[in-house]
Amino acid sequence: MPNNAERTYIMVKPDGVQRGIVGEIIARFEKRGFKLVALKMVHATKEHLEKHYADLAQKPFFPGLIKYMASGPVVCMVWEGLDAVKTGRAMLGATNPLASAPGTIRGDYALAVGRNICHGSDAVESAEHEIALWFPEGTIQHTLASAEWVFE
Ligand code: UDP
Ligand code: MG
Repeated sequence: MPNNAERTYIMVKPDGVQRGIVGEIIARFEKRGFKLVALKMVHATKEHLEKHYADLAQKPFFPGLIKYMASGPVVCMVWEGLDAVKTGRAMLGATNPLASAPGTIRGDYALAVGRNICHGSDAVESAEHEIALWFPEGTIQHTLASAEWVFE
């Protein structure tokens, strides 16, 4: 059953920050109707990123991925709303930007799989795990006045 309060972890990667796409990514989630419940910039340590990507530790691209993700600050966000995880992934596009449809974030702003500018949780369970990892301080509970115009 769709959940109006589902949460997903969205992160602008170092290349997205360097290329000035932070505002664009935030704007897309805002305009879609999602509610921002946490936001911060972090220059993550390799140890922290290894935890975030622990399930990929055996992949050949893992060392390069960690180096890339630690090369500069990232912008960490939690967005809440109807079907946030699946819809967030759809808004990001495919992992490989060449396979991402135009109109998606990666499909509009990226070309290389190893420089795909943004992260989005792939399941509700991983979203909760990632939110706890990046926001141990918790998220902000608030109500948007627009909610009654976004939800039925
Ligand atoms: N990645 C890569 N080469 C690959 C597959 C993935 O460099 O062949 C990187 C890419 O930045 C991707 C990240 O590793 O976003 C995490 O991979 P995952 O399969 O979880 O893709 P995502 O969930 O980000 O779409
Ligand atoms: Mg993933």
